[in-house]
Amino acid sequence: MYSIAIDGPAGAGKSTIAKTIAKKLGFVYVDTGAMYRAIALYFLRKGVDGKDAQTIEKMCPDIHVTLEYQDGEQQVLLNGENVSSFIRTEEVSAMASLTSAQPAVRAALLQLQRDMAKSADILMDGRDIGTHVLPNADLKIYLTASVSVRAKRRYQEMIEKGVSCELSEIEQDIKERDHQDMTREIAPLKKAEDAYLLDSSDLSIEEVVDAVITAFHEKTGA
Ligand code: C5P
Repeated sequence: MYSIAIDGPAGAGKSTIAKTIAKKLGFVYVDTGAMYRAIALYFLRKGVDGKDAQTIEKMCPDIHVTLEYQDGEQQVLLNGENVSSFIRTEEVSAMASLTSAQPAVRAALLQLQRDMAKSADILMDGRDIGTHVLPNADLKIYLTASVSVRAKRRYQEMIEKGVSCELSEIEQDIKERDHQDMTREIAPLKKAEDAYLLDSSDLSIEEVVDAVITAFHEKTGA
């Protein structure tokens, strides 16, 4: 069984790259951000303050997040409801950044994520996969890009979806999420010592994909 961990900040291109690599290698892709987003959606629907640690801890046992695959695409289920189409809003992004810092939320997902890596070859992306969830992953990648490049990519995505937005606001939002993810006490976003650092600012998707696949073959001999 092989495992690849890809970590990095919001907007570095992790999910696009991870999906492509998983398909090429025949691995199962696990998007852990989607799991944190599903939990954030639960708290948003309940009107809970994302910083209210006590209430969040009390509610965590009522939340069950599961993953399913339909035509190879990951679907996230929240207490049995497929919420995949509700978790990509800016509101959920902001809430996920807050609630994912809560110890009870991280504990609820940790074992689930580790168990997934026991049953198949997987490529998992997130913030703490190489440092915390899968410290023995066969290959660890830390994928980043400059704030301005990440903001421009996000802006382009929104414009293509027909959503009007301000580049400066997106840049500010990315900086805030970086700060929250990197400074939280539990499992903060940081490069694992043994992770390859890949800066995608000046690289195409294909170049990043090729670099990761080459590193995987070199590292494992597979
Ligand atoms: O990757 P994505 O932007 O979908 O993740 C949503 C949020 O979930 C992130 O801002 C981060 O705070 C949190 N997250 C995390 N640990 C992970 C994956 C995501 O804390 N492994």
